[in-house]
Formats: sequence, C-alpha cells, structure tokens
Amino acid sequence: MPARAASLRAQMLAYLSGLHHRRFIDMNADGLLQAVYASFEKQELSKKDAALIRELWRDYTLATKLPAEFVEEFAAATSHAQLAWAQARKDNNFAHFRPHLENIVALSRTKAAYLGSESKPYDALLDTYEPGMTADELSITFAELKVGLVSLIQRIAHAKAARARAPKGVFPQRDQEAFLAFVNEKLGFDATAGRLDISTHPFTTGTHPLDVRITTRYDEKDPWYAIGSNIHEVGHALYEQGLPDTEAGTPLGEAVSLGVHESQSRFWENMIGKNMHTWKYFFPRLKKQFPAPLRTYTLDHWYRFINDVRPSRIRTEADEVTYNVHIIIRFEIEKELIEGTIKVKNLPEIWNQKMKDYLGVTVTKDSDGVLQDVHWSAGLIGYFPTYTLGNLYSAQLYYALLRDMPQFDAYLRKGQFQPIREWLKTNIHRHGRLYSAGELMQRATGSPLSVAPFLTYLTEKYSALYNLRS
Ligand code: MG
Repeated sequence: MPARAASLRAQMLAYLSGLHHRRFIDMNADGLLQAVYASFEKQELSKKDAALIRELWRDYTLATKLPAEFVEEFAAATSHAQLAWAQARKDNNFAHFRPHLENIVALSRTKAAYLGSESKPYDALLDTYEPGMTADELSITFAELKVGLVSLIQRIAHAKAARARAPKGVFPQRDQEAFLAFVNEKLGFDATAGRLDISTHPFTTGTHPLDVRITTRYDEKDPWYAIGSNIHEVGHALYEQGLPDTEAGTPLGEAVSLGVHESQSRFWENMIGKNMHTWKYFFPRLKKQFPAPLRTYTLDHWYRFINDVRPSRIRTEADEVTYNVHIIIRFEIEKELIEGTIKVKNLPEIWNQKMKDYLGVTVTKDSDGVLQDVHWSAGLIGYFPTYTLGNLYSAQLYYALLRDMPQFDAYLRKGQFQPIREWLKTNIHRHGRLYSAGELMQRATGSPLSVAPFLTYLTEKYSALYNLRS
C-alpha cells in the first residue's frame, strides 16, 4: 500500500469493523439466539449443540458490551499506530510511536472497562485471547517458570560445551523452497488445501480448513532461518486443516484459544523440528539439497546449531530456553500499563532494565528493544502470554505422546509423522471449541496447565547438549 493511503485504509478498516460488529449483534435481532440460549440453560440441548450455543453466546455477549463507535475508533487507531510503529522501528525513534501507544493503552483500558465490569482490567483483555485465563494464574505460573529458566540459562552460560558451528556458504532460495516442500509434505501439510508464500514476518491465516495459508522468509546464508519458522507455521496450519470442515463458520469449527494454537506450532517447531531423531531422517536430504556448503558439515554440527542457547535481544530469534523470558518481560510490562502503575514514556528504560536483570542482555537501541514487536501497535494487549502458555502446553503434549506412543522416536527417525498428526487431530484439532482450552488440554494430557513438564523437557535436553551436571 502506498504510504499516503494510510489514512484511507484506517477509515476503511474502521468502517468494516463497525459493519461486522453490527451485523454480528444483529444475529439476535429477532431474539432467536436468546431463545436457544434459554434452552441451553435448561440443559435441553445435545452436548454438541450445547457447546455451540455456549460459545456463540459468549462471543455475542462480549460483542454487545462494545459500542460499535468504539470498535470503529479502535480499528482506526490501531491502523494508524501500526504504520507509526513501523516507521519508528525503522528510524529507532520511540518518541514517534509514543503518542500512538499512549492512545492504544488508553483505548485498551476503556475496552477492558466495557468488557469486564466485574473482572480486573487486564483479565478482561486476556480473556479475549485465552478464555478463562487470569493475570493471577499467569503471575503464579510465570513466577515458577522464571525461577527455573533463569537457573537453567545460568548453568548453560557456564557450561564447558563446544560452541555451536553455523553452516557456511550460500543456500539458494530456490533450493530452500524445494527442501521446505519436501519437509512440509512429510509433516502432512496439505498443499491442495493450503499454500506457502513469502512475507517479512511469517504467519498462518486460516479462513477455512480447505484454505490455510502460511508464509516464511529466506536467508541465503542460513537455511534454518526459513526451516524453523516454516515448521512453526506448519504446526499452526495442521491445526487449521484439522478443524472439522463440517462445522466451518461456527465456534465448533474454530481454534479454542491462542495458547492452544501456539502449542501446536511450538510442538512441531521444537519437539519435532529441533529433535535429533527428526534430523536423522531429514539431514541426509538437506545435505543432498546443498552438497557444496554442507560437505564437511555433520548432523551433530547441525543439531547443536539449531539448539544453540544464547540470550539475545530479539524475541523471534530466541532459542527455546530463553524465549519465555522475553514473554515474561512483556507480560509484566503490559499488565502494569493497563493497571496504570507505569507510563508509556518510561517504557524504553523499564524494558532495558528488565532485559539486563533477567537475561543479562544490554539493549543499545529501542528498535532492538521496546520497538521490536508489532503487537502493541495492533492493539494486541493480553496476547503475549498465550505464547508461553503454548510452550507449556507443547511440553505437556510431548510427554502425553511419549506415553501413548512408545514408537514416537522411531517414527521421527523414519520420517513417519502421520501417527503423531493423527493423535493431535483426534485429541485437539477436531474438537474446535467443544471444550474449554483448559479442559481440552486436561483431556489430552491428563493434567492441568503445568510448568514442570516444560522445565523437565528443557533440563533433560540441554543437560545432554551442554554436558550439565545434575
Ligand atoms: Mg505462532
């Protein structure tokens, strides 16, 4: 879009958001939804219909709490703010973004007041992404996680293991595309009901189980840059493709929460995509695709390279050990912004201090610090914690799979991913929003949300990689 069209687009998005909002609320203009909801309350509906009406009623009730004019204002503000953010990040100029972020924080506080008269403001926002989750539960979970992570990160920092060695040479994009096509087919991404394209920031968009689009980006010097993000998006895509298409357009055909969505992407990216057994299968194919640059490069080099742990400034490039510290920092900051105990103007300073305290990293410019993520400019406050919930859930799923599937590692070594995909489809994907996120994970893994499996997974894996003594 040309730069001067920014205002025009903000107006269009405001109009469409308002229109969508009004049309959605009109669903109950004749009182039909209300009447069916009364049947739900009297427990007259089948299990499936009851879930459908329960979820629809939830969406409807939340929508009615927001005035259409507010929805329009929010859409216009975030449209402007995203452009201001992109410019501010490019110019390393927080002052340029500051008034926009102040406006978004103020609007988000208003939104929270509309949505949750009974709940705490941050909870009302969080609930729109992770229904049922609260800041109090997150604070307890994240505090436990932080202690475990900080200690593991320190032990790895002092470990005497060999430095990871990056592959060297040129990896032509065309060959990387061919390799990804091979990987995606093996993992089970259905290319007849989806596409892989290129974008600056990788994402998945699913409008229907039969049209699921993912993107990646390439670095001709680093093949993992595309492979890792691609496997992450494939994880999201398998969820979207695994939703029941017979329920498309209803809550039963939708993902249950962002945390559960991220559990799928992170499971495939980390537990499968960074697993030695998986690469025993894929590495020979990788070498064949890039014979010259990988001539003397071994599977062991590659495994250490893709699992290198190093505290860094940029969240999206973080390894799986340090990643959640980035999320904890964002959660602490956005919660305080919404509670009004810190101010936007002090964010760079607060951000840099936390990066120093938790990760030992010095941030020298805001574009690598507080300006790095698009989320706040898009009005997504309360969204970051779902990333960590996804990581915690992914480890719970991993152990549940190991429990149910003794051949798990052998399947990976043989490139047979179908049983794993089927397990996820049966236990997670096909249910849509039939159960709450917590109930769904409890049913699939046998446990409620828990930090321990994730810390156990990291400790086992990285103790071996870094020769840590227990
Ligand atoms: Mg994701």
